[in-house]
Amino acid sequence: MGVTRRALIVGAGIGGLSAGIALRRIGWHIRLFERAASPRELGFGLALAPNAVAALGELGVADAVLARSFVPTNLWGEIRRPDGRVLKQVDLPARDALGGPMAVALRPALHGALLDAVGDDVITTDSEASGFEVRNGGVALRLTSGAVAEGDVLIGADGIGSTIRCQLHASESPPRASGLVAIRGAVDGALQHLGPLSAVYYMGAGIESAIVRASETSIYWFLSLARGLVPDGLEDAAAIVAHMATQFDDTFRAITSATTDLRYDALADRDPLHSWGRGPITLLGDAAHPLLPHTGQGAAQALVDAVALGKMLSSALPVEAALRSYERERQRKTRALLYQGRRMAALMRTRSPVACYLRDVAVRLAPVTSIAKVLVHVNRRAGTAVDHGRDQG
Ligand SMILES: Cc1cc2nc3c(=O)[nH]c(=O)nc-3n(C[C@H](O)[C@H](O)[C@H](O)COP(=O)(O)OP(=O)(O)OC[C@H]3O[C@@H](n4cnc5c(N)ncnc54)[C@H](O)[C@@H]3O)c2cc1C
Repeated sequence: MGVTRRALIVGAGIGGLSAGIALRRIGWHIRLFERAASPRELGFGLALAPNAVAALGELGVADAVLARSFVPTNLWGEIRRPDGRVLKQVDLPARDALGGPMAVALRPALHGALLDAVGDDVITTDSEASGFEVRNGGVALRLTSGAVAEGDVLIGADGIGSTIRCQLHASESPPRASGLVAIRGAVDGALQHLGPLSAVYYMGAGIESAIVRASETSIYWFLSLARGLVPDGLEDAAAIVAHMATQFDDTFRAITSATTDLRYDALADRDPLHSWGRGPITLLGDAAHPLLPHTGQGAAQALVDAVALGKMLSSALPVEAALRSYERERQRKTRALLYQGRRMAALMRTRSPVACYLRDVAVRLAPVTSIAKVLVHVNRRAGTAVDHGRDQG
């Protein structure tokens, strides 16, 4: 019988939990260290593009997630200017248009399913990693409590401000402001304001917002704004929404004003790394490749990373060669997405009347299927989990 390999994973976000599941499935012993007191997220949501749903399938949790999410059979929505003028109506069979099922999940549905699959017993909360040392062919992880954990590999899945990335790449600059802020909210019992639609998407000068159905009873929405639209020093989510609401239609105002569960984030950006890991250490998810939300692919790519890592570590390659092979595979695709996210962000952040006019014309003229793919973030660069060596067409 072979020796059981041990993985230390820093961060119990979507990336860390899915890496834990992928490695457990191939017989590794795992330990996850999470600095928060609880790994459960608040009620915000996210769109799971078809590649994310496929990755969840590979991890064996798709049914559990989809059972608690909104899985549209039809993409029935409108693209509007903030004042409510309709630029485009979308009404398409979802699977045919996107090449697979997509879902909108509230984060507790996704997190809950990942937590159940990985098992509470492997997670140590209130446990912040401070650094690592490579020793005797393995790795020792230091925690701020003074404790040390030993393993054969270390996976930094500790998000955009990753401590593990910082030690691996000591000369790298920290994340920088992207010039965008985002407010997210989730609300139960306000579906009547969406009427028969499953989504409304707004595009305005420096404004992007989407309101989407996220379960039988709930709605998830986000509002992304050019920094310059927000008065200096204002960081209170509800106050920012109230400040912007006068520019929006009744649907937006009714749904956002009924929302009490809100969150503000100043969005940050980082340049891609030339190499991710070293020796028995690697990175995964936002720690490796933070993507602006305009790709709609951050969580999806963390899930695809986890599946790819599990596949590489179950191959015949020695462990360190498998880690480098995983990195090469994932680096290429996530780098392309990072640049794509920046381009999308620039298009959405623009306040130039000419650029906004041309964007509106392009939306009006574009075929509805292409629009649906852009909105649900299905693109060749996103990649699939089913065959991580091939692009999604
Ligand atoms: C406004 C917005 C909307 C988005 N919408 C979508 C969407 O629709 N679809 C999509 O696919 N993606 C979306 N994303 C992106 C997605 O949320 C992220 O890419 C994803 O959550 C990254 O997961 P992660 O596990 O890599 O990192 P994180 O979620 O950041 O998790 C990192 C974890 O590590 C912990 N941690 C950090 N440092 C330490 C330490 N030193 N020691 C121990 N623990 C530590 C943190 O507490 C956290 O739990 C969106 C992002 C934003 C901001």
